[in-house]
Amino acid sequence: MVGVREINMEQDYSERSVGELRKTFESRKTRGVEWRKSQLRALQRFLMEREDDIFQALKQDLGKPRVEAYRDEVGPLTNSLNLSLKCLDKWMASKKINVPMLAMPTTAELVPEPLGLVLIFSSWNFPFVLSLDPLIGAIAAGNTVVLKPSEISPATSAFLAKTLPKYLDGEAIKVVEGGETVSKQLLDYKWDHIFFTGSQRVGRIIMSAASKHLTPVTLELGGKCPAVFDFMSCSRDREVSMRRMVNAKYGLSGGQACVAVDYVLVEEKHASLLIEMVKSKIKSYYGDKPSETDSISRIVNRHHFDRLKRLLNDPAVQASIIHGGSLDEDKLYIEPTIILNPPLDSEVMNEEIFGPLLPIITLKKIEESINFINSRPKPLAIYVFTNNEILKKRMVGETSSGSVTFNDASIHFLLDTLPFGGVGESGFGSYHGKFSFDRFSHMKPVLKRNLLIELSFGYPPWNSNKLKI
Ligand code: NAD
Repeated sequence: MVGVREINMEQDYSERSVGELRKTFESRKTRGVEWRKSQLRALQRFLMEREDDIFQALKQDLGKPRVEAYRDEVGPLTNSLNLSLKCLDKWMASKKINVPMLAMPTTAELVPEPLGLVLIFSSWNFPFVLSLDPLIGAIAAGNTVVLKPSEISPATSAFLAKTLPKYLDGEAIKVVEGGETVSKQLLDYKWDHIFFTGSQRVGRIIMSAASKHLTPVTLELGGKCPAVFDFMSCSRDREVSMRRMVNAKYGLSGGQACVAVDYVLVEEKHASLLIEMVKSKIKSYYGDKPSETDSISRIVNRHHFDRLKRLLNDPAVQASIIHGGSLDEDKLYIEPTIILNPPLDSEVMNEEIFGPLLPIITLKKIEESINFINSRPKPLAIYVFTNNEILKKRMVGETSSGSVTFNDASIHFLLDTLPFGGVGESGFGSYHGKFSFDRFSHMKPVLKRNLLIELSFGYPPWNSNKLKI
C-alpha cells in the first residue's frame, strides 16, 4: 500500500515563498510572450526527457498500464502544449468589439490580462494530466503558480516536486507537496484564483476558504456519469458501442475516473443481452483471470479499497452481484464487477463509485432515463448509445450535465477544442485548450473614446427636452 505524504510546510514553504511569487508577478516577468513560450517549451522537454519516469511513477501509484498512461496523460499533455504554443500569439491578442451608435466615435476591445498568483490543487487518478494541464493554461495566460499535487499519488507528487523545478522558472512556479494540513495552510493565503480538481466534499471547503479573500474558484468535481444504452436503435452497432462503453468503465484507471461510466440504464427486455455482452467484453479485455492481467489499474490505496468493499458488502448489493465481486486486499485488486438492479437508495447508487463496479438499472422504456437522470444531481457527463434522433434531441434539451456524448464515453476529455467542466454539483468553470487560457485570464474591456464630438443631452441640468432626444 502506498502511504500518504504529509510534510511540515514550514520547512519547505512559507509566507515568504508566496510573497516571492507575488513579487515575480508584479515584476511583469511572466507577462511577456517569450517567458510564457519558454516555460511551455520547457514542459515539452520535461515530457520528452522524463517519459519513462512518468510511466514509472504512474505504475507505482496506480499500477497504470503504459498504454493508458500515454493515452490519458502524456499524449493529451503533448497535444495541449503543441496547441498552446501554436495559438498563444492569437490567444494573447486583443479582440476588437463592435460598439453601438450611441457611443460613437469609440473603439472597443477585449484585452486578456493574467489573473496574478494562482493555486492549483489536483487529484490522484490522472495525477500528471490533472496537475499539468491546468498549469499549462495558467502559464499560457501569464500567471505565477503554486501547484499542489495529490498526496494520494505520492510517487507522482514527489517526482513533480523534485523534477519540475529543474525545467521551470522557480521564481514563478512552485510545486508544494502535502495533504490536508498543507492544503489548509495554503488556503489561508490570498490567491487571485484557485483551480481545484477533486471531491465535492473538499470543493465546499475550498469555496468557503476562498470567500475570505473573495478569490474566484474553478471547481472540477465528480459525480455519477450515467450511460444510457438504447439497444433497439443501435442494433447494428452494438459491438462497437459495447467496446467503448465497457472500456469507459474499467479501462480508465480501473474506473477511478471522473468521466468513467458510473452506471448503465437499459430497457428491461434487453438487460440479459447487455449483461452477456459486457461479460464477454470484460473477458476479451482482461482474459479469464483478470486478477493476473497488467491491463487494468489497481485501486489507489487501502482507504479507497475499503470504501469500494463497503459498497459491495451491503447485503442488498451482494444479492445483486451477477458477475465478479472478488477482491484481493494485498494486491488492492477488485474484479470487474456487474451489479443488476441494486436498491436505488443503496450507497452504490448514490455515492460516486470511482472503481470497477458497474450497476445496471433496468427501465420499462428507454425514455424514462431522462426522468431518472433528472431526479439525481447533475452529472459531469451523460453518455447515450443510440441512433434515435428524437431521443438525442430530448436528452440534450431535457437534461443538464457538464457534457453529453452520443455513441461513446469519456472521449470528450481528450478534445481540447471543447470546454471541459461540470455544472451544478459536478462543478463549475471549464478548461482545456483556449478555454484554459480564458480560465486563467481576465478579459478586460478597453474603450477608447474620441474627444472631438460631444452631445450635451447627457449632462445636467435635466429638463423635459432632454427626455425627447
Ligand atoms: P479530494 O477532494 O480528496 O482531494 C483533492 C485535493 O484536495 C488534493 O490535492 C488534496 O490534497 C486536497 N485536500 C484534501 N483535503 C483537503 C482539505 N480538507 N482542505 C483543502 N484541500 C484538501 O479528491 P480526490 O480523492 O483527489 O479525487 C476524487 C474526486 O475528484 C472524485 O469525486 C472525482 O470525480 C473528482 N475528479 C474530478 C475530475 C474533473 O476533472 N472533474 C478529475 C479527477 C477527479
